[in-house]
Amino acid sequence: MRLDNELWEGKYHEAVERLSREEAQWRDAESLLRQLVGCLSRAVHGAHDQLDSHIERLTGALDGPLSAAELTDVVHGLSEAIDNLGARPHPSEHRAIPIVRQRTEHGSSVQSALSRLVDRIIVLPKLADRANDLRHDVADAGDLVALAACGDRLADLINEQRIGLQREIDALQAVLRHVTGRLDEMTHYMSRELTDQSTGEANGQALDASVAHEMRLLGEAALELDDVHDLRERVNASLETIAGCFREFRDREGARLTAYRDRAEKMRMRIEQLETERTALQRSLEREHELSQTDTMIGMPNRLAYEKRVESAYEGWLVTQRPLGIAAIDIDHFKSINDTYGHTAGDAVLRVIGQALLKHVRPVDFVARYGGEEFIIVFEGTEPAESLQVCERLRGKIQHLNFHAARQLVRVTASIGLAHFQPGDTPASVFERADLALYTAKNGGRNRCVVG
Ligand code: GH3
Ligand code: MG
Ligand code: MG
Repeated sequence: MRLDNELWEGKYHEAVERLSREEAQWRDAESLLRQLVGCLSRAVHGAHDQLDSHIERLTGALDGPLSAAELTDVVHGLSEAIDNLGARPHPSEHRAIPIVRQRTEHGSSVQSALSRLVDRIIVLPKLADRANDLRHDVADAGDLVALAACGDRLADLINEQRIGLQREIDALQAVLRHVTGRLDEMTHYMSRELTDQSTGEANGQALDASVAHEMRLLGEAALELDDVHDLRERVNASLETIAGCFREFRDREGARLTAYRDRAEKMRMRIEQLETERTALQRSLEREHELSQTDTMIGMPNRLAYEKRVESAYEGWLVTQRPLGIAAIDIDHFKSINDTYGHTAGDAVLRVIGQALLKHVRPVDFVARYGGEEFIIVFEGTEPAESLQVCERLRGKIQHLNFHAARQLVRVTASIGLAHFQPGDTPASVFERADLALYTAKNGGRNRCVVG
């Protein structure tokens, strides 16, 4: 049996740490959402007098902390104003529906910002499908009103994620309480056993003392009694007393042992039950842990897994200084695949590319889906020239994957930016260099690898 309190506490702390990391990520997302709403507001400001006062209220409200009630109030006011616009066009307005219904420069920048935001969020596995639907709807949103509706859904998603995370923390705390309760029970049992053991010892000592006392009395009587008959009587009486002491001792010990066996059997069953629960809980924690680091659409590690991996690789690099590199991979013109063949085809392409990357990296390399149509590789202990060769090989593999959509052969290419750790670097600074190199690869005509 492993009553390993530390194991549970370790798991609990690890889970809380992960949840705090995700919580921090949601704070970033909230800040991006605020920027996005600000961006949307600027885009529609001036489009219609009746909207402007609501938009100004919304922008003002975004500057400080917001309660849900205040926000609901502001949003309702704005929604009503938008509905009124749709129902009763302003007399001075020649367009039946004002500018918010048109695709504008602002609109497309809002769309790409919202799209980036959805891509960057690592949602709980059970919310993955909804996040995916939302990503598609953002891409399909034809106007600012549709984008605003996507913004609302994103906010709902974020709230649900928060609630989900809180539930995970509550569940873990409940597990910890349960295990602690069981450990208390064990401790109680042990202390009872110790007391019982001392009772057993005391019974033994009492028997010794009674027998010794009787023997002493008998010895004294033997000195005093001359008559053999009397002496025999006295010996018989003493033996009877001693036999009585033994009987009493046997009865007491018998009862004590029966009670002990009962308790031991109960405790054995409790321990067995606890062991079964422990195994089941451990499996479910491991499964949760694995899911939280898996991109379920493709079936490969996700960005969270990448962050953990690169952090531990970085710690190793600080000590060993063995080469360490990061490659950022981005599918070229992926948007046009979605636009031409639909999102489902786009999803299928992503799955095939992800699987191809998993298959063709070397066992020592780590590949993850960073988000959207972006992947990332960590090269540990590989010389830069060799990492570049692997990147080139992967780029070639992607280029030669055959996709068929609408009975046509679709060719897909990818651009790759590669960077290696140098003195003073951190995972963030190397990622930035890899990303910059990727940008250069895009500008240089795509379907190429660039070292940063
Ligand atoms: P570039 O060559 O410059 O990288 O062009 P691009 O079209 O690939 O880049 P852009 O960032 O404009 O578009 C990326 C698109 O990828 C937009 C987004 O909707 C789509 N996308 C992101 N994640 C998914 C996904 O899971 N499924 C599908 N079908 N599309 C996705
Ligand atoms: Mg991209
Ligand atoms: Mg791309």
